[in-house]
Amino acid sequence: MDRRLAGAFALLCLLGGLAGCGAVVEETGSLTGSGGHPFAGETVTVAVDGTDRERALVADGLAYWDDEATDYVGFAVDFRVLAPGATPADGPDVRLRFVETVGACGDTEFSAGCAPRINGSTGVDRPAAVEIRRGLADDSTRLVVRHEGGHLLGLTHTDRPRDVMAHERDLATLPEPDATTRANPWNGSTLTVALAGDDATPERYRAELDYALAYIDDGADGAVPATVSVRVVEDPATADVTVRPVPADDCTADDGSCLLLEGPDPDSDGAIETYTSAEIRLVGLDTDAASWHIASQFIRTFHTGDSPDRLDDASDRRGDWHG
Ligand SMILES: [Zn+2]
Repeated sequence: MDRRLAGAFALLCLLGGLAGCGAVVEETGSLTGSGGHPFAGETVTVAVDGTDRERALVADGLAYWDDEATDYVGFAVDFRVLAPGATPADGPDVRLRFVETVGACGDTEFSAGCAPRINGSTGVDRPAAVEIRRGLADDSTRLVVRHEGGHLLGLTHTDRPRDVMAHERDLATLPEPDATTRANPWNGSTLTVALAGDDATPERYRAELDYALAYIDDGADGAVPATVSVRVVEDPATADVTVRPVPADDCTADDGSCLLLEGPDPDSDGAIETYTSAEIRLVGLDTDAASWHIASQFIRTFHTGDSPDRLDDASDRRGDWHG
C-alpha cells in the first residue's frame, strides 16, 4: 500500500487555521490465473524482521484473514507469525520486513507497503517478500498488514473487502511535531519568493518585495531564524512563497492581507507539519503598504510570537516602516 500525502492547507488571516488530511494512492501489477492457491488450507509461516511491537501488530493484522479468508477468497488460511529466530526446516512461507522506505513495488513515493499478489497461476516463490513502512500509527500498520495479506491471498484493489483492499486509504504516522512548534517550520532553509498576478505586478511591487525580503533575510529583529535565507525568483510556479496582489478576496473582509499555508499532515492530526508553500495575498492595498504586509505575513510563518517593534510602530501608516 502506498501513501500520497494530500496537501493540507491553512488559511491565516486574523481568524485561525483550517487543515485537511492525508490520502493514499497505490498501484500494483495485475496478474490473473486459475488453479489452487498455494496457501489454500495451509498454515502459512511468517517471519517478521522488526521489533516485538511490530511483530505483534503483524500478528494482529494477519489474524483478520484467519477469520475472513473463507468469505473473501474462498479458502481457509492460518497465518502463523514466527517467534524471533524460529525458522522452520523448510524456511518461512512469508518474510515480512519493516523498512524506512518501501521500494519493492516500484510504486510512487510514500509507499506504505508492498506484497506480491499470489494465486494458483503465479505460485509462490518462498519466502514471499513483504515490506511494511516503519513509523505508522498502530491502526495504520494493522491496516497495511491486512491489505498486503490480501494481496498474498490473491486479492486486487477492486476486490472485497473494500475497506481493506481499496487502494486509497487514510493512513497516519506516529505523532510528529507540528509546524507551529518547529524552529524552522519550512521544509528547507533557503526560501524562494516570486510575485504573481498580472503583467503589471512585478514592476509595481518589486521594490516593495525587495525591501521586505531584505528585512527577512537579516533576521527581522530576531523573528526569523538566522539559518533562513530568502531570494526572489521570477517564476511563481517554482517559488516557495508567492505574493499575489488582488483587488478583493474572501480571505479578509477589509483591505489588508492574508496568508495561505500548504504542507503535508502525515500523522493526520489536522495540523501541517512542515510548510511546502505559501501564498501572501495583498488585498486592495496601496502599493507603498505592500512591503509591511509581505514582511508581517512572512514572519508569521515562523510562529515566533509578537511582531517586531519596527513593524508594530508603523501599524497606523504601513508605508512608515520604510523609515
Ligand atoms: Zn495494494
